[in-house]
Amino acid sequence: MQTVSTVKDLQALLNPLKEKNKSIGLVPTMGALHKGHLSLIQEAKKHCDIVVVSIFVNPTQFAPHEDLDQYPRPIEKDKLLLNDANVDILFTPTDIDIYPNGKINTTQIELPHLSTQLCGKTRPHFFKGVLMVVNRLFGIVQPTHAFFGEKDFQQLTVITHMVSDLHMPIQVIGCPIIREQDGLAMSSRNIYLSPQQRQNAQAIHHSMQTAKAQFAKGETSAQSLIATMSKILTDANFKIDYIQIIDPKTLADVDQVQPGTRIAIAAYQGTTRLIDNTSLL
Ligand code: AMP
Repeated sequence: MQTVSTVKDLQALLNPLKEKNKSIGLVPTMGALHKGHLSLIQEAKKHCDIVVVSIFVNPTQFAPHEDLDQYPRPIEKDKLLLNDANVDILFTPTDIDIYPNGKINTTQIELPHLSTQLCGKTRPHFFKGVLMVVNRLFGIVQPTHAFFGEKDFQQLTVITHMVSDLHMPIQVIGCPIIREQDGLAMSSRNIYLSPQQRQNAQAIHHSMQTAKAQFAKGETSAQSLIATMSKILTDANFKIDYIQIIDPKTLADVDQVQPGTRIAIAAYQGTTRLIDNTSLL
C-alpha cells in the first residue's frame, strides 16, 4: 500500500493508472476503522482495479459543540488494517489539501430537501459538510466508483442524488450494514459508550427487529410501529432524536408501511448519538 498526503502526490500515482483505463474505487472514511469500513473495501476490490481509501476527519461536518477534537484517530492501527486488506492507496489529506481556500469562503453544494430531513434537522451543518468533502474528494480522485455504507442511509441517498444531479461519471455503490454480534451497527463512535451504555445500545437493533416482526404479522400503521420502538428505546435509557418510517427514495414519512419502507433511528445513549436503519421486508 502506498500512503500519500497531498493532492499532487495522489494524482501522480493515479494519472498513469487512469491512462491505462484502470477502474478506480474510492472509499471515503474518517478512520478509526472497523469491519464496516473493511466491508466497503472488500466490495471495492470486487468492482475495481485500484482501491483508494481516504482518511480525513472532515471539520466542516462537525458543529462547534460536537466531537471533532475527541474523534478517534488511531492512524497506525488503521494503516495495518488497510495493508492487510490489500488497499492500493491510502490518502490522508490535511485541511489545507481539502480546503485550499479555507473552510468559510469556499464553494458549497446545497441539496435542500433531502439534507434537511432526519439527521439534517438536529445537525443542519452535517450534510453541507459531507457534500463539501465528498465533492472535493471526487474532484481530487476522479474515481470510477465510490463506496458508501447503508449505515449512513441518508448520506448514501444524498450523495447518490448529488452524483445524478451533477452528471458525475461515478458509480455510487451502497453496501450493507455490518453489525456486532448483538446487532449494534458498527461505528467508530461505539467506543464512547460505557459498558452499561454499550449493553443498552443493543435496544436499537432489538426495536427494529420487533417492528419488523409486527409488520410481518400484519401491522402496517407506521405510528403503531414507532410507538413500539419508542417504548423499547426509552426503557433502555435512550433519549430519542427521531424514529421515522420513511420512503427510501424521498426520505419522506409514510403513514402506511409497505415492503421496502425503511425505519430510521437516531438516539442518544448518554452523550453518544447513535444512528441505525433497516428495510421492512
Ligand atoms: P465514517 O468513517 O464513519 O465516515 O464511515 C465511512 C464509511 O463507512 C461510510 O460510507 C459509512 O456509511 C461506512 N460505514 C460505517 N459504519 C458502517 C457499518 N457498520 N456497516 C457498513 N458501512 C459502514
